[in-house]
Amino acid sequence: MTVRTATVVGAGIGGLATALALLRRGWQVEVLERFHDLTEVGAGLSLWPNALRALDALGLADRVHAQALSESRTGVRTSGGQWLARMDGAAHGGAVMIHRAALQSTLAQALPAGVLRTGVRVSRADADGTVVHSEGSCTADLVVGADGLHSVVRQTVWPDAPGPRYAGYTTCRMVTHPVAVDGGGESWGRGERFGYASLPDGRVYCFATVTAPEDGPRVGLEELRERFGGWHTPIPALLDATDAGAVLQHGIHELPPLRSYTAGRVALVGDAAHAMTPNLGQGACQALEDAVVLADRADASDGLHEYDLLRRPRTQYVARRSRLVGRVAQWSSRGAVALRDGLVRAAPADAFQKSLKPLVDWSPPACEGRRPE
Ligand SMILES: Cc1cc2nc3c(=O)[nH]c(=O)nc-3n(C[C@H](O)[C@H](O)[C@H](O)COP(=O)(O)OP(=O)(O)OC[C@H]3O[C@@H](n4cnc5c(N)ncnc54)[C@H](O)[C@@H]3O)c2cc1C
Repeated sequence: MTVRTATVVGAGIGGLATALALLRRGWQVEVLERFHDLTEVGAGLSLWPNALRALDALGLADRVHAQALSESRTGVRTSGGQWLARMDGAAHGGAVMIHRAALQSTLAQALPAGVLRTGVRVSRADADGTVVHSEGSCTADLVVGADGLHSVVRQTVWPDAPGPRYAGYTTCRMVTHPVAVDGGGESWGRGERFGYASLPDGRVYCFATVTAPEDGPRVGLEELRERFGGWHTPIPALLDATDAGAVLQHGIHELPPLRSYTAGRVALVGDAAHAMTPNLGQGACQALEDAVVLADRADASDGLHEYDLLRRPRTQYVARRSRLVGRVAQWSSRGAVALRDGLVRAAPADAFQKSLKPLVDWSPPACEGRRPE
């Protein structure tokens, strides 16, 4: 039997997971990553049950659980700390919080030696399977564009596809020194939000989202203190436990819906295909789903088309919902915020839980129909 070859562009969560999934199906894989090291970029990531099932299909669920913390009590509060909606993490199958670097290195360490080639920058890809990069070029049966929001694979294979657009807000992420906090969650103000969740080593992952022009000034720890220092406990203490240099600020962008995720021998996964706002904590989760579905279909004669049909509607649905949540959560007018908070508070206790079902009730193709214990 001829061994099928795949070139994966990008060693983020999507690219590494796709490489692993293809290797498990007998493909010969190389991953090209522009950076020399997989640096400790990013902060916390919530992994929902759909992502945990995808990781299980990759044989990594135990290793990930060992480095993650189950999210217990969470929900949405006002800036003063009154609960608008509460959720028991265990009730929806157990989302976990992990540092992005821990997930990325777990995926990378699971690859056999020689698969990951770092310091190789891809400059173009073609639908015939050719990839041009800083060390030459190669041709593969399958090219996976896993190169993120500003994907070169997407731009060269789909030159007319629309580029990323700014969502209207910017997010600061930081990991504090260890602090004891009870539960986690997100608090909504007027045009600003603050969220936090504990990491397994006692540090706390925090994010602060602020409505701002795309080219607005940098938001640093001082501004975060001014904005959020008077919010409910433990937010001021979390800011006190943060180093100024630990604040990572990113304008939030999303990709307008693409008409297809595949062309010829090329398939897009993760943010390259469907970069979404982070409001549902599903971007990396969807990249993990993409990985196992692509590997499941890629061998079939019409497999890439099937991958596109399976993944595009779902990921674009998740992106739409995420955009809507972000819009409402960033409302800033006093009247709109009072209405929003009143409606969320009045919703039935299980409404939040139920609304998550279509997102988290997903199983990898091989275990379709299986539900989490
Ligand atoms: C504020 C914020 C919070 C988030 N929170 C969550 C969360 O809680 N849960 C969740 O599931 N998701 C979350 N996400 C989304 C998640 O981080 C992304 O969806 C996910 O990391 C995308 O992974 P990826 O592999 O598709 O892309 P990336 O992580 O962007 O990886 C792309 C890789 O490709 C490489 N690359 C790029 N161009 C080239 C090139 N030309 N040649 C070679 N290599 C190249 C890059 O260096 C990089 O390593 C959040 C995002 C943000 C912004």
